[in-house]
Amino acid sequence: MSDTYGLIRYAQTKHLAFTEVAEGLEDGKFHFSAKDNLCADGFQARAGSAVLDGYSPPFDATCIGRMKGSGGQLVGKTTMDEFGFGTFSTNSAHGVPLNPFDRERSCGGSSGGAGAAACLIPGHIALGVSTGGSISGPASFCGVVGLTPTYGRVSRYGLIDYGNSLDKVGLLSRSASLVARHFRTMAGPDPKDPTSCAQPALAGKGRMPSSLAVPREALQNLDPSVRSSFQEALGKLKGMGMEVHEVSMGSLRFALPAYYILATSEASTNLARYCGMRFGRREEKFDQHFNDFFTGVRSEGFGDEAKRRILLGTFCRMVGFRSRYYLKSLAVRQLLIEEYRKVFRDHDAVVTPTMPFVSPRFEEIGRMKPLEMYGADVLTVPPNLTGMPHISVPCAYVAGLPVGMQMVADHWKELDLLEAASAWENVFEYRFPEVSL
Ligand code: GLN
Repeated sequence: MSDTYGLIRYAQTKHLAFTEVAEGLEDGKFHFSAKDNLCADGFQARAGSAVLDGYSPPFDATCIGRMKGSGGQLVGKTTMDEFGFGTFSTNSAHGVPLNPFDRERSCGGSSGGAGAAACLIPGHIALGVSTGGSISGPASFCGVVGLTPTYGRVSRYGLIDYGNSLDKVGLLSRSASLVARHFRTMAGPDPKDPTSCAQPALAGKGRMPSSLAVPREALQNLDPSVRSSFQEALGKLKGMGMEVHEVSMGSLRFALPAYYILATSEASTNLARYCGMRFGRREEKFDQHFNDFFTGVRSEGFGDEAKRRILLGTFCRMVGFRSRYYLKSLAVRQLLIEEYRKVFRDHDAVVTPTMPFVSPRFEEIGRMKPLEMYGADVLTVPPNLTGMPHISVPCAYVAGLPVGMQMVADHWKELDLLEAASAWENVFEYRFPEVSL
């Protein structure tokens, strides 16, 4: 058993990072994993939901096909919150992944398994998906680099939808250079995904950001240890020759409610297709009225959070409430885009901490109300709503746990973020947990 394969099994058994792994490693290939909402031939794709138990797609998502085409072996599917609904991966029907630094804490979510795999396996590249922060969040809690590309940069073909106007495939890994290499492999328009965009080419290197904006509003309600770690990191960025300016972005405070309205509205329509007829779970009770048949499958197959989101999303789209919630949220989204663009006239990137606290213990998460959980996304939701690329890198360790820093750039400027993340690796030393097999 090679060391890498041993680590993959270790990540699977000790940290529940994988829902399924390949039987062995193939010679001469690099190893990568995919979040379980990405379809791949030969693996189940259950997106963290019991409703999809048994679903094995007969095709590869475009991003997976491109990784395989460039010499990659898909070595496993990673654990996630049901359909991406969550921030701690505790809403998973297939085991809850355990943080590589402390098994009593969360990996973040919803790409929690991807965060753990990227952290535990050197040289590994984990494909994640972000709708409202599911790459940045796990990257922060697991102490790895996580890139969420511009919306439309990477094809969504073969991705099990959460919110179609928000979902983005991205990458997590220990190193920015690995992320940069494989980002280039996956990016580019795809005729199978009409929302993958004609896009600026990824030629050459990015431009190193020289002027950074820190929105005052983003520094409220942070855990004191995250706040001081972040201030220290800003000092290091200045030491690298970057200018750091405080700015005000008033619309940030509307991002969280607007996101949860738009994301659940889209999710509630997407989940309508899971009724036991086409994908996954089905019951052989064909003598019932169709309504009872569907209700039975959906009542048993969906978890509590999925049901909550179906109710919330359906409510927000209803006649009479649409203009009050859904349409207003679309306006907020536009306002945010304009506000970021204004900042980008004078600055190259917006920097904040990634999460307001370090990874919490499962017992603390168990006491959180849904709204408190949603509140944890306050810093990751804004760039996701605007479709702008962002990257999370480790910037400190508090009591042995990683703290993440997030940089956002204007649409299509992923390479600039990757430049900054590479330079950051030269001034800040990343730590990874010791694993003995
Ligand atoms: N935590 C956010 C949510 O639950 C974002 C998750 C995601 O990006 N999939 O919607």
